[in-house]
Amino acid sequence: VDRLELEGVCVSDLTRDELFGRLRDALERRTQLCLGFCNANMLLKALCMPAYAAALRGLLLVSDGIGIDLCSGLFRGRFFRQNLNGTDLVPAFLSAETAPRTLYLLGAKPGIAAAAARNIALLTPQHRVVGVRHGYFSAEETGAVIAEINAASPDILLVALGNPAQEMFIAENAHRIDARLLMGIGALLDYTAG
Ligand code: UDP
Repeated sequence: VDRLELEGVCVSDLTRDELFGRLRDALERRTQLCLGFCNANMLLKALCMPAYAAALRGLLLVSDGIGIDLCSGLFRGRFFRQNLNGTDLVPAFLSAETAPRTLYLLGAKPGIAAAAARNIALLTPQHRVVGVRHGYFSAEETGAVIAEINAASPDILLVALGNPAQEMFIAENAHRIDARLLMGIGALLDYTAG
């Protein structure tokens, strides 16, 4: 797959169908995949924050937004084939996924993830939300948060902590999280909660 590379951070030039294929593959084969929807703002943060760049290097990144597409035009001489943003893509993937999956929703303010879970149950009843937790916890609480996730053992962990926190959380902790698919989703829980 062709990609945009800046400071060792690679953003893959995937189509939506190719991305869905990768996600499904991870779920079916029970191998772990960490996904980030990378916009220009995230790339800029990575350029001035080496720890964030290192975190992003551990994720499969796809291109989100016109800013990163312009970067691609400038640095790579071609635009991305498709714009893949999490707000559209994650609900679309869950709808397209007919096999039942279990989900854990981590992030947003107290009460939001539970409200999002109720709407996910209405919109995609084939899936089951097996746990929720708000996203305002300290570094000391991270171990307990991960223990809760692992007790629920979801197929998919959606992480909505904003940037750079969500990608840092995923990159630093994926190895000790019992989930096949980990995705940073920004403000999607707020949108889904309605
Ligand atoms: N968020 C969180 N914990 C934090 C900071 C943010 O759970 O410590 C949540 C916030 O409630 C929202 C999501 O992360 O649901 C995205 O936050 P924001 O809009 O600030 O980030 P961005 O969309 O700019 O990445």
